[in-house]
Amino acid sequence: MKARIVTLPGDGVGPEVTDAAVAVLQAVAERSGHTFEFASHAIGGCAIDATGEPLPAATLEACKKADAVFLGAVGGPKWSDPQAKVRPEQGLLALRAGLGVFANLRPLQVHPALAALSPLKNEKLKNVDVLFVRELTGGAYFGAKTRTTDTATDECKYTVAEVERVTRRAFELARERRQHVTSVDKANVLETSRLWRSTVTRVAAEYPDVKLEHQLVDSMAMLLLTQPARYDVIVTENLFGDILTDEAAALAGSLGLLPSASLGEGKVGLYEPIHGSAPDIAGKNVANPLGAILSAALLLRHSLELEIEATTIEAAVAHVLNYGPHSRDIGGTASTSEMRDAVIAALDEVA
Ligand code: ATP
Ligand code: MG
Repeated sequence: MKARIVTLPGDGVGPEVTDAAVAVLQAVAERSGHTFEFASHAIGGCAIDATGEPLPAATLEACKKADAVFLGAVGGPKWSDPQAKVRPEQGLLALRAGLGVFANLRPLQVHPALAALSPLKNEKLKNVDVLFVRELTGGAYFGAKTRTTDTATDECKYTVAEVERVTRRAFELARERRQHVTSVDKANVLETSRLWRSTVTRVAAEYPDVKLEHQLVDSMAMLLLTQPARYDVIVTENLFGDILTDEAAALAGSLGLLPSASLGEGKVGLYEPIHGSAPDIAGKNVANPLGAILSAALLLRHSLELEIEATTIEAAVAHVLNYGPHSRDIGGTASTSEMRDAVIAALDEVA
């Protein structure tokens, strides 16, 4: 097949990990006979420097026409003045809105070779395989905000349609996995959560083959640490999802390992590692590129429907975690490019 992939390397370690992900995708293309055409565009701080805008119109246009979009990271101290009129993160929010991506997927597995890095004991980590589906366009992050000298408000709002579409996505994903959805809310206190719960319950009736369970967010925060292997797909609203996915990331041992996908109704998805621009290590060729490389695997799976190729990348990453090399964040000394080359070499080992 032939696919057009837009890359948005962004700031900090973004360009380094994007280069690694692109190199792995190129290697997969060579081995499978597919053609991936890459076009790189500006977003975030580097786009502000070049054009004054965190998301230049040309970037959004190119992304909308692509088959998939790969993003490195945005932001950094150079652009972090809270008084600044334009900030790099606005580029990312505008891109998500422009692409209409409403479901943020974050798979979490704990690789046995890294169990020592996790704060949990080995036996709890066995068989952890969770897929978070976080609603990405609603809730308190996007509601009206007010501020006077002594009062502030953030409106939290959800429509039935917004809850339905992310719920359907979660159930469809669960069908391909272990047929178990846990919906997380705070329905004992919040009206948006009561709407969430009743909508999820109604949509779930369309998926009799998938088991639904409700959890309050506070108990979920605890259960993630005490029984992480119990969960399959966890679906939740924007703010709860933001918090729970960071908590879950700690279980994996390093931020540098974890991928994400943001999907909408169409096929164009946005793929990025969950880590930020990591300014403290940028430009030193030491960032772990595995989160970016695993995001490239998600791109193949969800936007290009190349399941075999996606699985091959994941197996190659597992091979590297088993046999090394390891980057600094996971207890080794390997550079970004050594990690990249090791994954490419492992493609042939696992094929
Ligand atoms: P953001 O505000 O953009 O989400 P953040 O505050 O979450 O950023 P990161 O930029 O993700 O922070 O960095 C957090 C810490 O994790 C830093 O010490 C950074 O060096 C480290 N880190 C992040 N990504 C990687 C990576 N790919 N490899 C190694 N270390 C990383
Ligand atoms: Mg962060």
